[in-house]
Amino acid sequence: MTENLMYKMDGFASLLKERIPSSQYELLDSISSIANSNGVALYLVGGMVRDILLSIPYTDPDLCIEGESTDFVELLSQELTGNVIAQSDFGTAKIELNGTIVDFAIARKEKYQYKGALPEVEKGTIIEDLSRRDFSINSMAVSMNLRNYGELIDPNNGRLDLENRVIRALHPDSFLDDPTRLLRAARYAARLGFTLDIETKEWMTNSLNILKDISGDRIRHEIEHILGENQAVNILSLAEQLGILDSIYPSLRIPFELGKSAAEFGDHRDIALLSMLAYSLPPSHSKSFIRRLNLGRHWAKIVTDSHRVLGLIRELSSDLSSSEIHALLSDLHDTAICVGSLYTEPPVSDRLKLYIEKLRDIKISLDGQDLLNMGVPQGALVGTILNELLVAKLDGYIITEADERETVYRILKDS
Ligand code: ATP
Ligand code: MG
Repeated sequence: MTENLMYKMDGFASLLKERIPSSQYELLDSISSIANSNGVALYLVGGMVRDILLSIPYTDPDLCIEGESTDFVELLSQELTGNVIAQSDFGTAKIELNGTIVDFAIARKEKYQYKGALPEVEKGTIIEDLSRRDFSINSMAVSMNLRNYGELIDPNNGRLDLENRVIRALHPDSFLDDPTRLLRAARYAARLGFTLDIETKEWMTNSLNILKDISGDRIRHEIEHILGENQAVNILSLAEQLGILDSIYPSLRIPFELGKSAAEFGDHRDIALLSMLAYSLPPSHSKSFIRRLNLGRHWAKIVTDSHRVLGLIRELSSDLSSSEIHALLSDLHDTAICVGSLYTEPPVSDRLKLYIEKLRDIKISLDGQDLLNMGVPQGALVGTILNELLVAKLDGYIITEADERETVYRILKDS
């Protein structure tokens, strides 16, 4: 029997059982029993349904409730001994049950006061809830109710779009209502290897200029999501081609070939990509870019330091000792320096690499206390001598701890 025929016969019940890991399936089953015995209509929605149909791993279960959720979430956390992690005014709740984070939302309809505003929310039906979602492939639900357990609710033909591997927005104003969907469209298209429906692409182009009215926090939030994805470079590159990056900040680019090397940054891949985005802008734009995305301290430093590396290019081209290179770079973030070495040419790139590969790890053995024990008087001299030792070690004049001690005694004798 083909999969399609099987779905027609028993809905998606058997597919859920097959694709959801058994411990989680049992948990969802218990949630569904509690919902059914309390007259609450419960649905699996969004990304989980999409990913189950695609047979790819999903993140955390998303559930949607028709009616009132606050009492239900309380009831669940009591009956299943869970922890309510977060609850919002929109009626959404995050609850941890047996180690699984489950997202609950009340089915709702939304009204936008003006394009790009956060929506006004009212309770609605599951169909209304699905119709306010971003793309057809994200607007399917599977019923967890006894009456029609396993039925796929697919008012926007998401399943067909999944089969045709297409990202389709639900209506022409979708991106005007919520321009962050522009970035989401690029994210799903590149993550799943789907194409953008032609009409959707036109709607996107027509909404680009609304991005300028969106808060930095909302854009940054989407960028954070993107930088955390395996396909981050492809997503950014698609966003660039679609004119999205330029609409977020003029001239913002991702160099595709370099971007691919971001994988080598391991856990720092996200900030390496952020640094690459920063390198595409003139250094004089540091502050205004940071302000536009309302970047926190850590990310702001990556941007500023990337631009500071650009500002040091002339100095780094001249004849420099190791200690001079160290002095220029030691306050800057390693990732910004590393990315800088990809953007520059010898001798600058060689000096940036020398710093990353060797100089930054050179440390002296003695510390301030050792110096005091050796008779250096308390005060500024301690710092000065430590610095002199580091300079001498970086430039190869001293190597061992004995060399360091000898140098200290010599300085003391001469002073
Ligand atoms: P992911 O695998 O990235 O988590 P997801 O589909 O679960 O994908 P979420 O951001 O977790 O995406 O959101 C859950 C669901 O909420 C989406 O599937 C979509 O239906 C809906 N949604 C999220 N953001 C928006 C938005 N900006 N506009 C409309 N619907 C949205
Ligand atoms: Mg999700």
